[in-house]
Amino acid sequence: MSHQTPQVQDDSRFWAEASEGRLVFQRCADCAFLRWPAAGVCPECLGRSFAWDEVEPVGTVWSFAVYHRAYAAHLRERVPYNVALVELDSGVRLLSTLDGFPPEADPIGARVRARFRAVGEHPVVPVFGPA
Ligand SMILES: [Zn+2]
Repeated sequence: MSHQTPQVQDDSRFWAEASEGRLVFQRCADCAFLRWPAAGVCPECLGRSFAWDEVEPVGTVWSFAVYHRAYAAHLRERVPYNVALVELDSGVRLLSTLDGFPPEADPIGARVRARFRAVGEHPVVPVFGPA
């Protein structure tokens, strides 16, 4: 019986590039699928090789929810706040928060662009605002 060592995801490159204002994702070397979250194996073809590719930080709001509780200390003064699923033009879907959309607004379908800024304990994260 053989055992495979679990692949630990390493997304440190994503965060390092974000701190420089760039969005990068793993692109499968075998089928070109863009992976997010970072993974040791391609969910499309099970390939293990990849390169990091920069993508345009623009996309469309695919879904969202309004949170009325702060699930992290740095969000206390922002309640209520939205959490959105943004579909980048490259096809990757990314969870983030929206800037410039009041909580009562329906942003689905809105074109957005990432800004990179410090949030909570993270040095820099992508946050989306109107494109
Ligand atoms: Zn693949």
